[in-house]
Amino acid sequence: MPDYDGLAEPFLDQNTHGKLRTELERFRRALAAARQRLPSACLAPETICVAADDAQLHLAMAPGGTINLTILGVIHGNETGGLPVIASLIEKILEGEVTVTRPVAFGLGNVPAALAGKRFLDRDLNRSFGGASLGSSHEGTRARELQELLGRSLYLVDLHQTREPSETPFFIFPFARRSFDFARMISSDLPVVTHWSGSFSQDGMCTDEYVNSRGGTGLTIELGQAGFEEAQMSTGLASALRALHVTGSANVRELPRIEIDAGFKGCVYTWAGTIPYPKSGEVRLVPDLVNFQMLNAGDVIGTWDGSAIKMPASGRILFPKYVRPGTPDADAPRPAELCRVIRIVTEPELPA
Ligand SMILES: [Zn+2]
Repeated sequence: MPDYDGLAEPFLDQNTHGKLRTELERFRRALAAARQRLPSACLAPETICVAADDAQLHLAMAPGGTINLTILGVIHGNETGGLPVIASLIEKILEGEVTVTRPVAFGLGNVPAALAGKRFLDRDLNRSFGGASLGSSHEGTRARELQELLGRSLYLVDLHQTREPSETPFFIFPFARRSFDFARMISSDLPVVTHWSGSFSQDGMCTDEYVNSRGGTGLTIELGQAGFEEAQMSTGLASALRALHVTGSANVRELPRIEIDAGFKGCVYTWAGTIPYPKSGEVRLVPDLVNFQMLNAGDVIGTWDGSAIKMPASGRILFPKYVRPGTPDADAPRPAELCRVIRIVTEPELPA
């Protein structure tokens, strides 16, 4: 295991730092035990592939071999909520609560960035997959390592978290009928945010896009605001166990339900619009905007050099961007977007 003790941790408070260390230790212990006691292989550092037996593992690792389901967390370093979920999944396999029937993989994306309290060190890992010019950046190297795993994954669940609180956890993925069906197999209640006009980012692909481009089926789950929170851990674990079950990857002794507030149950959303982040001047968002907050046309969401920024139409907002002094966001280039506005999509509107 790599040792990260030398890394600076300027953006983590003592509490988060302590929790992160504890959960990382737990993950490493589970990983080490799994390597000793289970038919397993390692395609990339901080990941493990587990199979039902050695023969199955051998087939999965052979050229062209496939991993039935991969579950990842911490692709963005500051989104640590997936870490206890992944540790817990490996523990459940070790304890016999989950019995693997087809090859599965688990892993953490960006531990060095997590320890630095940052989304990434050099470039956004989740915009780095399939890129031609990844270079020798930390995330470029990591993307190449993880592509070994993602390229042979039939299904992918990638656990993320949002910057601000969220009124509900949600699936998010570029629309593909099979990703949508996979999401609905995991949970018919967990809301979906999807989009189908071009890539989310032009720099490189997200994990789910990359898996889709290689013929697999990928999706991302946003659990809630970044950090360690019990309710999010439960949602993440329930989603992961249900994914293991519905893909026929494992027998799961207890399949937890995913509880969603009535107002969001089964809803499907897409982008209605984007409010751009002003390129210059002083920008202030009104305090306490959260993901999925319903706002009315004309509601003031912030100010730009003192003048009001208003909602152009009524709708729920997603990804409000606060740039807080003393956080990594303050040092980063200005965000391109102040927030997105989403709207409900009806079934017939979805691409065929
Ligand atoms: Zn993320």
